[in-house]
Amino acid sequence: MTLEPVTTCPVCQSVLFNNYLTVTDHTVSKQLFHIVTCAQCGLGITTPRPDQQHIAEYYKSDNYISHTGGKRNLQDWLYRVARYFTLRWKRGLVERMVPKKNLLDYGCGTGAFINYMHNKGWETTGVEPSDEARQIASKNNKVVNTLSAIESTFECITLWHVLEHVHQLNETMRELKSRLAPSGTIFIAVPNMLSFDAYHYQKDWAAYDVPRHLWHFTKNSMCVLLQQNGFKLTATYPMKLDAFYVSLLSETYRHAGRNPISRGLNALKIGLSSNRRASTSGEYSSIIYTATHA
Ligand SMILES: [Zn+2]
Repeated sequence: MTLEPVTTCPVCQSVLFNNYLTVTDHTVSKQLFHIVTCAQCGLGITTPRPDQQHIAEYYKSDNYISHTGGKRNLQDWLYRVARYFTLRWKRGLVERMVPKKNLLDYGCGTGAFINYMHNKGWETTGVEPSDEARQIASKNNKVVNTLSAIESTFECITLWHVLEHVHQLNETMRELKSRLAPSGTIFIAVPNMLSFDAYHYQKDWAAYDVPRHLWHFTKNSMCVLLQQNGFKLTATYPMKLDAFYVSLLSETYRHAGRNPISRGLNALKIGLSSNRRASTSGEYSSIIYTATHA
């Protein structure tokens, strides 16, 4: 196994880091990983990180439902209900900002979003490196395994909880920029490590999801990343349902022995608290950043 230590911040090129947390890979390997934060831009970095050739070993779990589409328990059922409402909400957001119906979903997984948008009349293309997920997604859509297989440009590019999984951050951002039409908008959704639920659950915060999440963004580090790759941030939007879903998952890591109702009530309390505090601080559990060409 090749593990990459952190040397330079990919966002601001600083070489100074602070130790932040030690986190367990709860879903697959049970191994411990460190998270350090960049002293300059605040980006959280998983270290050491499995390199691109070996990261697939950390996705081999039935629990990784965004890829396998499995059906298991109450938590997955809640995930599915939340996903349906989230799909509707994402469509509303995208259609308010992008008039032309031409969409690239980068990291489309099993294709939930592109299937939904395809059914609503959008021309959809997906990029998905996992063979298994890509096969499922490509039933109704054009789906390729890498951006380099695509030559056209898109009015709308979406990354729904994907950028935190991407090894080559700047290269990917620049490639995405070259596929964004001149009047296009890119939507990037990532967890926010400065949210209240992240502070509350600490090493048990489910959205750390090490080592699959290589980077842990803050508003500042995302702004710097966009700027240095030629994008202009146009708006941010909260993903309020994520506070509840992430809290519920975090409860199962922190209080595995407790009964599900008690964990559910606690997750509800923390989720509400996170959204209430974020209404003044802006530090929501997950944030969507929209950007255009600078
Ligand atoms: Zn940095």
